Amino acid sequence: MNLNIPFVDLKAQYSTLKSEIDVAIHSVIDKTAFIRGPFAEEFEKSFAEKYGIKHCVSCANGTDAIYITLKALGIGAGDEVITVANSWISTSETITQAGAKPVFVDIEPDYYHIDPLKIEEKITPKTKAIIPVHLFGQAARIDAIQKICEEHNLFLIEDCAQAHFATYRGRKAGTYGIAGTFSFYPGKNLGAYGDAGSIITNDDGLATRALMFSNHGSLRKHRHDMEGINSRMDGIQAAVLSVKLKYIDEWNLARNKNALIYNHLLSGIDRVKVPKIRENSLHIFHLYVVRVEKRDELAGFLKSKGIETGIHYPTALPFMPAYKHLGHRAEDFPVAYKYQGEIISLPMFPELKVGQIEYIANSIKEFYK
Ligand SMILES: *Cc1c(COP(=O)(O)O)cnc(C)c1O
Repeated sequence: MNLNIPFVDLKAQYSTLKSEIDVAIHSVIDKTAFIRGPFAEEFEKSFAEKYGIKHCVSCANGTDAIYITLKALGIGAGDEVITVANSWISTSETITQAGAKPVFVDIEPDYYHIDPLKIEEKITPKTKAIIPVHLFGQAARIDAIQKICEEHNLFLIEDCAQAHFATYRGRKAGTYGIAGTFSFYPGKNLGAYGDAGSIITNDDGLATRALMFSNHGSLRKHRHDMEGINSRMDGIQAAVLSVKLKYIDEWNLARNKNALIYNHLLSGIDRVKVPKIRENSLHIFHLYVVRVEKRDELAGFLKSKGIETGIHYPTALPFMPAYKHLGHRAEDFPVAYKYQGEIISLPMFPELKVGQIEYIANSIKEFYK
């Protein structure tokens, strides 16, 4: 018998929180506090507190969070920003939007993050910042990257869109650099009911400039100190996020537990490479990604079994048509190039049941038999 297992199940989470969420949404409507306002301020305060950091500046989405940070740091024309070959395009397109040039670095074998050993060869006098991505829910080698930034006097901006409250060596990812940027897209570990994002920082000046830039260059009504953009968090999103923030640790641990069950059940199949967890870290498994032989055939087989899968990402950024002008070749990013044909993301959400994971693992075993 087929079980139908979706890739993510946002409805399952809503059913457990329905009364709290509904009250929160209605209180925003009651107060007509639709754009930023008290609900966004309350969320910013609790998010910053939970991160143990001075400032959280909310904005409209996780892409803007990166763009606003780059602009608030004064990065623009003539500058280069180093980032990773495998990520969602937000990480690199915002560098271009700011007027700078994205410079890609290959990924580490096994961990899928920017390879610290390959960063320094890409640094030039024009380099201003490095944006590592804590991809799939696990921290990049952020201590090594931080050291490179210090030695070369570069800004470190951490893309934490997939890593809310992941930790590395006892410290939260997103607190190593000058700023951590977050997405609260509905499917993220901490997801709103629409688009939302935020920036965290201990730097007072950066926080002020980010807040100003995200709201038309204004901190006070009808006074514009500069031109900015319109990127503000909705009250409704903030109210939903404040409810969900109370449960994020619980959900992250449930994902982590599900991943360990997957790892246990799949580790006996030699054509499947299960994710490695860095020592001394908390991997919050936004995505559960394995590398396999005959990836596309496996995806088709799982689909026939009712199991939905994804690929994150089927084409690494340097090989996208959008970056054709940079003239990259496969041999420039050998690991990212090889992995893009092998990776597959299996269903992952906190409410996933052991029986469902067993069914998925057994289906994979059946395929390779
Ligand atoms: C989701 C995501 C973003 C962008 O977030 P949006 O809120 O969708 O704009 C940026 N970087 C990474 C790595 C992401 O996964």
